[in-house]
Amino acid sequence: MATETFEFQVEARQLLQLMIHSVYSNKDVFLRELVSNASDALDKLRLAKLRDDTLDADVSDPHIEIEVDRDARTLTVRDNGIGMSYDEVGRLIGTIANSGTAQFLKELKEAEDEAGAEGLIGQFGVGFYSGFMVADEMTLLTRRAGESHGTRWSSRGEGTYTLERVDDAPQGTAVTLHLKPADPDNQLHDYTSEWKIREIVKRYSDFITWPIKLVQPKGDDAPEPETLNSMKALWARSRDEVSDDEYHELYKHISHDWRDPLETIRLQAEGTFEYQALLFVPSHAPHDLFTQNHRRGLQLYVKRVFIMDDCEELLPSYLRFVKGVVDAQDLSLNVSREILQQDRHIRAMRSRLTKKVLSTVKEMRTKDAERYATFWREFGAVVKEGLVTDAENRDAILAVASFASTHGEEEQTTLAAYVERMKDGQEDIYYLTGESRQAVENSPHMEAFRAKGIEVLLLTDPVDEVWVDAVGEFQGKRLRSVAKGEIDLDGEDEQSTDAEKEKQAETYAGLLGWMKEQLAEDVKEVRLSSRLTVSPACVVSDAGDLTPALENMYRAMGQEVPRAKRILELNPGHALVQGLNRAYQEAGEDRSALTETAELLHTLAVLAEGGQPKDPARFVKLVAERLERAL
Ligand code: ADP
Repeated sequence: MATETFEFQVEARQLLQLMIHSVYSNKDVFLRELVSNASDALDKLRLAKLRDDTLDADVSDPHIEIEVDRDARTLTVRDNGIGMSYDEVGRLIGTIANSGTAQFLKELKEAEDEAGAEGLIGQFGVGFYSGFMVADEMTLLTRRAGESHGTRWSSRGEGTYTLERVDDAPQGTAVTLHLKPADPDNQLHDYTSEWKIREIVKRYSDFITWPIKLVQPKGDDAPEPETLNSMKALWARSRDEVSDDEYHELYKHISHDWRDPLETIRLQAEGTFEYQALLFVPSHAPHDLFTQNHRRGLQLYVKRVFIMDDCEELLPSYLRFVKGVVDAQDLSLNVSREILQQDRHIRAMRSRLTKKVLSTVKEMRTKDAERYATFWREFGAVVKEGLVTDAENRDAILAVASFASTHGEEEQTTLAAYVERMKDGQEDIYYLTGESRQAVENSPHMEAFRAKGIEVLLLTDPVDEVWVDAVGEFQGKRLRSVAKGEIDLDGEDEQSTDAEKEKQAETYAGLLGWMKEQLAEDVKEVRLSSRLTVSPACVVSDAGDLTPALENMYRAMGQEVPRAKRILELNPGHALVQGLNRAYQEAGEDRSALTETAELLHTLAVLAEGGQPKDPARFVKLVAERLERAL
């Protein structure tokens, strides 16, 4: 039948180049990847047959075979699983659908050296293509279960591949590698060597639940195929029987991450509803953690049989980065997502798993501060979503949460530590939200707090805007934004007296009232500030209003929210404000010249907190005029 030639998609081509000029030193992992794909294919076939028993497929003896031919220097990994149709081969093998790949390639271009590139490959994993680390040609022969025709795919990894329909392919997939000459100095071993294959399978794939058999090329004296893996489910074995490395390999199989996990969590539940869980916290956040199509890597098994991937019923969304296996003894083999959603045992399981993950992180925090710091850096922004969505575990989440603060440059603080450091008379826990630590620290809202040495939490994740309101208080102390409502720090540090304040209020009453009229479109009030020491003015939100960042967030989600007018605060200790007040009092009835100054003062306050002028061109014009006059 006709052979057609196709070009690899650009991203795929770039990846292939990398594999061919392999920068990844541990080339043995290619076999782990092919076996992992074969195992997935057997899982998929079993499920397909379970859902539709009219499917014309052979499920009598599911297994994986590895066959080497020393003379031809080929190695074949064969499974009798689900297989692929002609279209699927083109789609799945010819292109790279993984959403992280574009990002991966971008970073790869930026990675200057080989070590950087190797780290990146490890971070993403490249599955099937890793075969090109050890082979200069790969062919794949496959037939989708239930279909009569098969497909042959073949490529030398150099930009094109061929596809051909074939009549007589066995069900499942066989991947044949035409091996490069062995080059042990570059970690390219002789993969036709039986002991090498045995070693790799034992090391990386022992737990695979299907038999992996080593078969000899057909011949008269070919011995019985030997099964290389123990197939023992790691989660069902006792802790001291299993090495960390074995756990890590299971993690890699499930997650498609090539790096070790940060933490392994085991849980055995006995009793009326029995289950075992083996969970992993990755060491790095995936690139698509905040996108809709993020795949969760939590697999559900029933009595050692794989049931589904991405089982989102088992953990709440704010723990969606956790990978692993949950094996329940008492569920039906054809349990569906709909059933899971309603099952009270599943709900109880989810609750227990959630608590277990949180308590593990809490323990990590006390026992291994560095590992905890990695955890929080990678996943803190996701975990904080739970403060909004999971009221039941709020305290447990707060107990593992930490925050940047003006208390220290590098180290983060807990809320409990913050409360311990609170000054005498300080009632509230202060925070400020914003886009970056630098923007927040330099915000005018911070001035009085800095001057008085009052600690402020610096919150820079988008979710911070939301959870602070949802949580409200901690240990009886209110969480208060330094950019919201009236802030009066004098109660905490007697300096200016009431009499002084009253006098100030009198002096400025006229100016404040007039400015409010002039700026009525943008602000709802103009008042004197007790938060400023350096800047002339700042804008703040009313205690009950949404902050501008939150308004933008709702808009981005497509919700209509009215723009809340804000409050302009002036610093009576600043020469510009004092001068403006004098000019206001001396101007008599015609104050048109002062209007522009009032407008500029407001725009400066907006700029200082990182906002945009309403009319940038007009702002530039007004400032330029004034600069010119000053020359
Ligand atoms: P990944 O396994 O990370 O998705 P791969 O490049 O290894 O990426 O494989 C791409 C896709 O090709 C797989 O997701 C699967 O759908 C399909 N595939 C690969 N190997 C097999 C196989 N042995 N049997 C059936 N499908 C396979």
